[in-house]
Parts: sequence; C-alpha cells; structure tokens
Amino acid sequence: MALIVKKFGGTSLATPALIIHSAKNAAKDIRKGHQVVIIVSAMGRTTNDLISKAEQISDSTKGREMDMLLTAGERTSMALFSMALNSMNIKAQSFTGSQVGIITSSDHTKARILKIKGERLLDALKEGVTPVVAGFQGVSEEKEVTTLGRGGSDTTASAVAAYLQANICEIYTDVEGVYAADPRIVTNARLIKSISYDEMLLMSYSGSKVMHPRSVEIARRFNIPISVRSSFSEGDGTMITNNKNIEENEVTGICSRDNLAMLNLKAPKGNVVELLRQMSENGTGIDFFINKGFDNISVIVEQEKLNNMLSMTENFCESISINNDIAVITIIGAGITEEKDILKKILTVIKKYDEDIFSLSTNKLSISIVTKKPYVQKIISEASKQFKLEQND
Ligand code: ADP
Ligand code: ASP
Ligand code: MG
Repeated sequence: MALIVKKFGGTSLATPALIIHSAKNAAKDIRKGHQVVIIVSAMGRTTNDLISKAEQISDSTKGREMDMLLTAGERTSMALFSMALNSMNIKAQSFTGSQVGIITSSDHTKARILKIKGERLLDALKEGVTPVVAGFQGVSEEKEVTTLGRGGSDTTASAVAAYLQANICEIYTDVEGVYAADPRIVTNARLIKSISYDEMLLMSYSGSKVMHPRSVEIARRFNIPISVRSSFSEGDGTMITNNKNIEENEVTGICSRDNLAMLNLKAPKGNVVELLRQMSENGTGIDFFINKGFDNISVIVEQEKLNNMLSMTENFCESISINNDIAVITIIGAGITEEKDILKKILTVIKKYDEDIFSLSTNKLSISIVTKKPYVQKIISEASKQFKLEQND
C-alpha cells in the first residue's frame, strides 16, 4: 500500500465533468487500497478571472484582500472534488490550506511555506477519509490567509507529500509531461522520460511553466519522486528524481522567460555596489546581471518591477537607459559546457541575431542568452533542431 499525493491542475478541473473525470482517477487508486491525498487548483481560468475583476476595481492587487479573493478559486474546486468522490461512495473531506495547517510567511500573493502542522490530514487518513486540500494557499503566523504565487498548487503538493513522507507526488496537467522545449513554441518537442531535480529546478526557474520552482526545491530537499503526467491519457509522463537523465542527450531542455526589461546603469565606482545592496535588501529581484566593469552594469528585471527599480537607481547613477521587451533563453543539460560542440552549435544559431544578443553566459548546468523577445521563437525552434529536442518520429 502506497501513500500517493495527487495534484490536479486547473485544466484537469475546468468543468464539473472534468472534476468527475479526475475524481475517478483518484478513486481507482483508493479502491486498490492506496492512501491518497488530493491537492486541487482553481477550475480552468478562475484565478485569471478573479485577478481581472480585482484589476477593474483597484490598483492595489498584491495585498490581503487579493489573497482572500484568490483563495476562493481553490475553495470551489476542493468542495466539488470532495462531492464527486462522495458520490462514488468514497469518503472524502475538503480542507482549506489554513485548516490543514499550511503555515506560510506573511508576504501576500507570494508567501513561502514555513511548516505544515497537518493534524487534520493525519486524522482524516487514520479514519479512512480522503483529504482534498486546496492548493496554492496557506495561513500566516498572524492568522492571515496567504497565497503562494502563480502556479503554487504544485508547491502545496510537494510540501504535503514531504510532510506525509509520501511514496510519490503525481502532478496531473494538460500535457503528457515535461517536454524538452515549451510545446507551444516547438509543437513536436520531445517528452523527457526522466529528469534530475537539479535540471528540473533550472527548467522551472528559467521559464518552463509546467512545474512551480519551489515545488521542485521541496521535492529535492525531501527526496520525493514527482511524476508529471496528463489527466487525459495513460502515458507514463516524466519522472523527476535524484537519478541522472538516462537519455544521455547532450542537452536536456531549452526554456525562456520574457516580460523582462534591461536597465543599463552607469554610476561612479562604489555606487554600484551600494545600489546592488539596496536592491537585494528591498527584494527587488535582479534576475540577471551583466557586468561590464564596476561602474557600468546592466541588470535584467521583471517588467512589472521596473518602476520600483528605477526609483531606487536615480540617486546612484550618472546615466540610465532601458531596453524593454527583453527575454532570457536558457539551454540546460548536466555538464553542458564540457561538450565542446554545444557552444559551437549555439553560436551558429544566434549568429544571425548578433546585434541583438546582449549576453551569452555559461555555468556547469546551463547556457543563457539575453536577447529581444521577438527572437525567442526562432532561436528556440532552431536550437531544438540542433540539439535533437524534437520527437524522432
Ligand atoms: P496546470 O494548470 O495543470 O498546473 P500549467 O499551465 O501550470 O498547468 O502548466 C502546464 C503548461 O505548461 C502546459 O500546458 C504547457 O503549455 C506549459 N509548458 C511550458 N513549458 C513546458 C515544458 N517544457 N514542458 C511541458 N509543458 C510546458
Ligand atoms: N490557481 C493558481 C494559479 O492559477 C494556482 C495553481 O494553479 O497552481 O496560479
Ligand atoms: Mg501549474
């Protein structure tokens, strides 16, 4: 008998019929005698719709009230999912994040899980009741409801799996698993059968939306195997574990992030250090850093943080210029820089866009390219061909 945490994403719960479909998946394992804990996202586009409503009413969509609003999405799903299981004669009970003691930091809309108290989860399991937990939410030490950032239900799932020392955490989504490139950009991207926590973590931080990065961090720390799979097919999906990628492809995947801006700063020597210190203290979040000397740097920041960042730089800099519409493309693979052909291939791909490549940097696991957003699609498509990231057939 195994203890399985199953998380269903928004598309897997978009309609009552799909909730029933997902509940049948859980019921199958429960009937086999496994203990199952369900984590749910909000139905379909509910979270986006709630955000859009808030934006029509207020400029301030980051605080307490926003979290009260957003948690309503997962609350709806958890009750409906529980009802679906009950109607299949399976005892189930829904719980909010707060009810199962998911204690978080107090940063509204981007809280981090600090600990799980979890008594009600354990009680339910002891009584043979399947807990259905609202993902993406928790409660701060000050007893305020919080959310974990977009896509945060994955993090609830791996945190609950870690707390319960589950045998596996299954993430059900609308694609077959983790692909070597975003399937919306490379339609025939190769499905990765197995990937290490480290590589997956890099993929998540580098823009692959399929798994929330914090979720992978937690699974790695507590050694919880994650299976990313489709709600709509029987495929084996992708296993994320400590094991090295057995497929021996020179490159594991390619990802990109956009909605970024590049701030080019010239400042008297010494000021840059002080500026960077203030930026990190204020949590402004520098994404990428191009150093052309200690008085001349470029930093990449999320577009939405640009104004905040600008107000900070004014006192420190002699000149500031901004490039909007920036993207960072990251090519990932263990030991990527040891294969001498890889860099050569990348240079062949980006040669055409030479003037708009702002930086090329490497480390043991990845190579990153800073460029303009309009080139992302072309560079990723061409690199996917070079690195055999497409399906063979
Ligand atoms: P869910 O609602 O199930 O959590 P998400 O929308 O958060 O689903 O994540 C799944 C989506 O991630 C897919 O539909 C796909 O478009 C996108 N995606 C981006 N990069 C990748 C990738 N490398 N592999 C798989 N999916 C990816
Ligand atoms: N419903 C939340 C979102 O859309 C959390 C999640 O789906 O994981 O971001
Ligand atoms: Mg998601």
